[in-house]
Amino acid sequence: MKVDLTLSHIENHMENPRWPLLIAGPCSAESEAQMLDTARQLKETKRISFFRAGVWKPRTRPGAFEGMGEEALKWLKVVKEETGLHTACEVATAEHAELALKYGVDLLWVGARTSANPFSVQDIADSIKGTSVAVLVKNPVNPDLQLWIGALERINRAGITSLAAIHRGFSAFEKSAFRNAPMWSIAIELKAMCPDLPVICDPSHIAGVRELVPLVAQKALDLDVHGLMVEVHNNPCIAKSDAAQQLLPKDYAQMIYDLQLREIAPVKAELRSELDTYRGEIDQLDDTMIERMAKRMEIAKKIGCYKKDNNILVLQLNRWEQILERRANMGAAMGLNPEFVKKMMTLIHEESINLQTEIMNGK
Ligand code: PEP
Ligand code: MN
Repeated sequence: MKVDLTLSHIENHMENPRWPLLIAGPCSAESEAQMLDTARQLKETKRISFFRAGVWKPRTRPGAFEGMGEEALKWLKVVKEETGLHTACEVATAEHAELALKYGVDLLWVGARTSANPFSVQDIADSIKGTSVAVLVKNPVNPDLQLWIGALERINRAGITSLAAIHRGFSAFEKSAFRNAPMWSIAIELKAMCPDLPVICDPSHIAGVRELVPLVAQKALDLDVHGLMVEVHNNPCIAKSDAAQQLLPKDYAQMIYDLQLREIAPVKAELRSELDTYRGEIDQLDDTMIERMAKRMEIAKKIGCYKKDNNILVLQLNRWEQILERRANMGAAMGLNPEFVKKMMTLIHEESINLQTEIMNGK
């Protein structure tokens, strides 16, 4: 299915039009000094187009820092005047949107908790009707592509054509290396359904820790995203929100200089996107396999404890033979080479045995 969105591209201020649109700045606006210091350092990279800062913070639990509100809009204005950078902030209600416009914010984004609620999105859409503000819509917290598209459509139907989506990953019940499961295939599907819609990645909220941000950013660029929104703070250790995932400006600068822009193979564009789609699916499946494997090993450890408590042999040959036979048969039924399944299961079994032997011997 193709979705019809009326769009004009969000302006990219890069000299090289192939460069991704870069949006960077702190998770939250905390003080004028923090904002100006961060913005000045970001300006020096000469690559960023928009300075972001959260003015109202939607927090999962009450009592956490909820943003400085209107006062922070004044700081965003100062940043714009002092550095010439365009500005961006999150809006979650019509009142937020009206205030942000009053203070001359150039780009508004709808956060993940808000885009999951059609009433809230509609209120925001109604409040910005007739303006030419640019809007980004983050994916809803839950992996629901239709809800994400619906939010984009609501904003678009209010006459907003400077519109893009932000992929920031999805909440997952099971723990993984990432704070939010990227589920790249959903972003890829959005691109397929809305070919003219720019998709921007937010590697900070996917990664959750600063060490993983460059890896996720590169992966997003490899999937041909239009831009990156990254959290950067002049002193992340004392940040009032998302301290673990914010980068120092110098580390952000290093990251963007290190990013590799892949070539577009012009003649074979269709083949390339087909290949990217398959690889995105493969990555997704591999991520799932690793997560499942971690879970399997956790259970193997529990069995190890049980065997230790009851003084039972680690190696239970009958059980192992059963496993091998059952998995090989199942693999064969699904078109897999039984030899391959046998090798894979042997490797997994070996690791379980190692873990259990360690437990048995008191490690
Ligand atoms: C943010 O960008 O700081 C934010 C709150 O993000 P999200 O809505 O993706 O959680
Ligand atoms: Mn944040």
